[in-house]
Formats: sequence, C-alpha cells, structure tokens
Amino acid sequence: MGDVMEVLTSDDLRGWMTDFARTIEAAQDHLSDLDAYAGDADHGANLVRGTQAVLAALPQLQGPPGQLCKDIGLILVDTIGGSSGVLYGTIFLRLAQAIGPTAPIIDLPTLSLGLGSAAKGISDRGGAQRGDKTMLDAVGPAAEALDLAVQEACPMSVALIRTAEAAETGARATAALQARRGKASYVGVRSIGTSDPGATSAALLLRCLAARATLTSGEDADRHGIVVI
Ligand code: ADP
Ligand code: MG
Repeated sequence: MGDVMEVLTSDDLRGWMTDFARTIEAAQDHLSDLDAYAGDADHGANLVRGTQAVLAALPQLQGPPGQLCKDIGLILVDTIGGSSGVLYGTIFLRLAQAIGPTAPIIDLPTLSLGLGSAAKGISDRGGAQRGDKTMLDAVGPAAEALDLAVQEACPMSVALIRTAEAAETGARATAALQARRGKASYVGVRSIGTSDPGATSAALLLRCLAARATLTSGEDADRHGIVVI
C-alpha cells in the first residue's frame, strides 16, 4: 500500500503516457472505424504513430513536469499529423505553460488551469465551439468538471475520475451531433449517429490519467481495467 496521490510528478506523467500509448494501440481499429463514418479512417493510425513516438522518447525525457509536457506536445505535433496532431500538441503545450518550466510537481489547481487553457487552445487553434462534434466536446466538459472538483477541494483521485467521466459523457453525446469542424463536417448530416473519434480518444487520455492518479505505489494500471469505449 502506498500513499494517496495528491500531486503529479514527471514519473506519473511518464506512466500516464505509457498507459495512453497502450490504450490507443488497443483502441486503434475502433478509433479509425469511427473516423471512417464521416472522415478518412486514419485517427487510430495517427494516434498510434504519435503515442508510440512519445513512448520511444520517454526514457530520454527526464525534465521537470512542465518541460516534459512541452516535449510530449512537440513530439505529438510532429508525429500524429493531420488536424488532431496540432490539437493534441496544443493540449500538452498549454499544460506545459500552466505548469511552468521548473516546477517539480503538478498540483490539482495547476492541472485544472492547464486543462482549461487546453480547451481554450483547441478552440483557438481549430475554431471549434462546443457542440461542433470535435474533441472539444470531451475536453471542455472535462475541464469544467475538474474546475468544480478543485473548488470543492476534492482529493485528486476523485477529481480526476469526475474529469474522465465528464469527458466520456461528452464524447458519447457527440453521436447525436452533426460535425461542423474537421473532415467530418464535409459529409453534413451523414456525420450524425457515431461518436466523434477525437472526442473518443481524448476521453481515453483523461481516463488513463484518472487511472494513474488512483494508483498507489507498486500497482499496475492493468489492474484498474482501463476499458476501451
Ligand atoms: P484528420 O481530420 O486530419 O484526418 P484525425 O483523423 O487524426 O485528423 O482527427 C480527427 C479528429 O480531430 C476529429 O474527430 C476531431 O475531434 C478533431 N478535429 C478535427 N478538426 C478539428 C477542429 N477544427 N477543432 C477541433 N477538433 C478538430
Ligand atoms: Mg482522419
């Protein structure tokens, strides 16, 4: 039994990205299938490329958490490609900005500021609003849930579980929406009926973070049964 986690370290970030890379590998076909309905069927492959590149680089990424997030963001921009590469990169670059280059840990209020800034960054970079059927429909509600949890002084594990649940609820709700941004917007009403691939993968990202934050030392993420939705 280890201590309950209340801050995140660089080790936790590396663990989170390792879990995310494995989760994306398992979800690859599902994500590309979702992207096939209204897009170009490459979201799974794009994210596998990006997350495997991060995984390969992790042993060399030994800086403090803000530096690590910046490094991860730059790798994701370079390797995912497509529109989602820039947007995934933006998430981590905004987190990096909120954390700062030298802070040794990330506390929950800082993480919350970073996720709020990430949601704004997605909208700034891609022009999407909530309800346009994009990853913003997962990241936006997740940032709000985290902000609320911080205001209520929730423990980190509870706060991040609520964050992941908000992202998952938001991602599922995109099935009813018509896409107004990205390639899926080209097919009009035919985009209705399936969840947005980017919102689905962003919910997986936040579920992996919640799973990491509920670990105590010596446990393995596999025991938390991260499931692919
Ligand atoms: P591409 O669209 O270039 O093929 P991907 O298939 O990897 O890239 O990613 C598609 C996802 O990217 C969409 O499901 C959506 O969530 C997200 N996306 C695309 N364009 C935008 C945008 N302008 N704003 C926010 N998210 C977007
Ligand atoms: Mg695509």
